[in-house]
Amino acid sequence: MKKVAYIASESVPFIKTGGLADVVGTLPKVFDKKQYDVRVIIPNYLCIPEKFRNKMTYVTHFYMDMGWKQEYVGVMYLEYEGVKFYFIDNEYYFNGFTPYGDVKWDIEKFCYFSKASLSILKAIDFQADIIHCHDWQAGMVPVYLKTLFAGDLFYTSMKTVMTIHNLQFQGCWDIATLKADTGLPDYLFTPDKLEMNKDASMLKGGLVYADKITTVSNTYAKEIQTPYYGEGLNGLLSARNESLWGIVNGIDYDIWNPQTDSLIAKNYTVKTWKKYKKENKKKLQEMMGLPVDEKQFVIGLVSRLTDQKGLDLIDRVMNEICQDGVQFVIIGTGDSRYENMFRYYQGIHPTKVSANIYYDEAKSHMVYAGADVMLVPSRFEPCGLTQLMALRYGTPPIVRETGGLKDTVEPYNEYDQTGTGFSFANYNAHELLATINYAKVVYYDHHENWEKIVERAMVQDYSWGQSALKYQELYESL
Ligand code: ADP
Repeated sequence: MKKVAYIASESVPFIKTGGLADVVGTLPKVFDKKQYDVRVIIPNYLCIPEKFRNKMTYVTHFYMDMGWKQEYVGVMYLEYEGVKFYFIDNEYYFNGFTPYGDVKWDIEKFCYFSKASLSILKAIDFQADIIHCHDWQAGMVPVYLKTLFAGDLFYTSMKTVMTIHNLQFQGCWDIATLKADTGLPDYLFTPDKLEMNKDASMLKGGLVYADKITTVSNTYAKEIQTPYYGEGLNGLLSARNESLWGIVNGIDYDIWNPQTDSLIAKNYTVKTWKKYKKENKKKLQEMMGLPVDEKQFVIGLVSRLTDQKGLDLIDRVMNEICQDGVQFVIIGTGDSRYENMFRYYQGIHPTKVSANIYYDEAKSHMVYAGADVMLVPSRFEPCGLTQLMALRYGTPPIVRETGGLKDTVEPYNEYDQTGTGFSFANYNAHELLATINYAKVVYYDHHENWEKIVERAMVQDYSWGQSALKYQELYESL
């Protein structure tokens, strides 16, 4: 039996700000319990809902060196859907209304968290074979393991995996502060280790010291070895490319299932969608304040509204997109620039654009079920989940060929009659527009081919099963 410890800053169902939480909370459930004992370590944030906090039980506590001071480390425990979760308890660090806030404070907080997570393994007597670290918040774990903890026999045989969910976030701060926060020696803060443009990067530390590195799709694994996508770490990542794996994320097929989803107007399957999917379209139009009209080509967008998501491309051609026969439903929050952009277009095209500037998981299900296509024109996309949900609900995605979008959406080929969606290669607004127009032509003029695209999309398998097997292969390779 292999023992695996997951160390991460968030996990469903306790605390979630992004896709990271889905991976950390879902993946441990999928492994074969006879072969793998996977336990998850996250902070015990005060903002974890009471209903969970009340159920946690106290395990132990101790004091740990933290630079020049000693800090309390409490360990709380809760088993949830068969997975063992440990929560690092420290009210000084984890008392915010949200998991993250002030950057400098976050740096110190997650230096503490990384060291505490390693320290509790001994306290709970869990001698992991593999420590699987997620994103910059756990980046210091491999560094501590190979330095401060290296002399302790309990830790010497442990191997580490560092997973990059988004390379854009690295936990960078000045070297003096990081030295003080970590208590690590000077020799680690050089350009071949933690130093990054005269500062120090916690994620870089993880990438230098981990035994294996993974990221969340094959294409993103290749892209991050180039300057355009590499965020300054492309040199290091290409030097380590023998140890770098791309493993695509899955989605929870119990939650995202058009046959049983109680959040949509009418359930359907690949056999019944022709009859029932349109009920969802009608309901979506009603709900979003658009004219109810079956003949409209409804484009959906569910997204954080940030530069990453390719929204400036949409801005360039929005008036052309809003031609006859098209409606555009947006659910998203983020940068005010993009929030206002969509509000503006709703103002000038009130019967075509519905801008819903908020986060609403329930309504997002209606968009996946009710739209005719899903737009994901990202500048970069490590994996992307919205296109996977769209495929499952028979809503062909229109994507830019980058990262996980390229790996999971096969572009329609009218000659071979293959493909599950539509895609364009360059970060160019007119390529986006041409691709939308092409999808419209297939939808209106070759509807029998359109139906086949929908059906191929619906039978793709992007549940966690396949990805879990890949992670097992990775663990076995260590
Ligand atoms: P990222 O992690 O970069 O935000 P992903 O595509 O990996 O992008 O994951 C986004 C997830 O968040 C999807 O499950 C999507 O449905 C959900 N989501 C994003 N914005 C909203 C919103 N405004 N309301 C509801 N769900 C949203």
